[in-house]
Amino acid sequence: MMDKISIKRLEVFANHGVLKEERELGQKFYVSCNLYLDIRKAGKTDSLEDTVDYGKVCFRMTRFLTEHVYKLIETAAEELANELLYTIPQITSLDLEIEKPWAPVGLPLETVSVCISRGWHEAYIALGSNLGDKEAYLKHGIQSMEQSKDFRVKSVSSFLTTRPYGMKEQDNFLNGCMKVETLLMPEELLDFLQGVERSVNRVRQGKWGPRTLDLDILFYDDIIMDADNLKIPHVDLQNRDFVLEPLKQIAPNYYHPVLHETISRLAEKVPGEPTIVK
Ligand code: AMP
Repeated sequence: MMDKISIKRLEVFANHGVLKEERELGQKFYVSCNLYLDIRKAGKTDSLEDTVDYGKVCFRMTRFLTEHVYKLIETAAEELANELLYTIPQITSLDLEIEKPWAPVGLPLETVSVCISRGWHEAYIALGSNLGDKEAYLKHGIQSMEQSKDFRVKSVSSFLTTRPYGMKEQDNFLNGCMKVETLLMPEELLDFLQGVERSVNRVRQGKWGPRTLDLDILFYDDIIMDADNLKIPHVDLQNRDFVLEPLKQIAPNYYHPVLHETISRLAEKVPGEPTIVK
């Protein structure tokens, strides 16, 4: 169980609501949160710098909820959770509840609330290109994540030149891997990556045909999923030296949750011809 700091029922007067009256007159909200972070160090040093200042968090939440107006407390909660996760790097995840005790339902309820849990997830992504300025395309892929608030890029491998896999009559590839932290869920991450691929006008020419930029999800936390459009861990990574070699540079001891082997070990026993040129 991770350490947490809890704030219970901070009272904020704000203007969120579907009804015009709610937005004009305002009403009382209560905000509660659990902030998950490692507080072991602060426990030893007794120093405020080593933890999250809950006073500042209270002011930040109050300011955010009074400076914005949302129809739904669902949206208020989502945006407030993002604000806290974007701006307070020590928080790895949080639970957030917004209560609306005066909700205009016309019946004598005690309170209504929404409660959400959000946080950073660790993902490994493979990058590949074999058309045009390949290095520029891979860098564009990395930058698209660096520039999004929903990502923190943690490490990037070197780029390797590799011979085509599958459909052989095409130019060599440039391949790399990266580790990111993201607030996106797996399907949202896939959508984001496909959007980046589309933005560089990737024209699909068959399953293994040439592409300006290919972005694949290799791992996402230790999740195992097998949806029609998204399989995690990536189903073919153990057969691809052009994925395992760059991945080995940044995560040699990462443990494959299905194959139960480390990346180093998987890289030693890739079947078939090596594809790496340099
Ligand atoms: P590709 O030709 O490698 O870009 O394949 C893209 C297709 O694979 C898309 O239609 C995705 O929905 C699907 N797919 C399944 N699993 C994954 C994954 N782990 N990462 C990226 N795409 C995936």
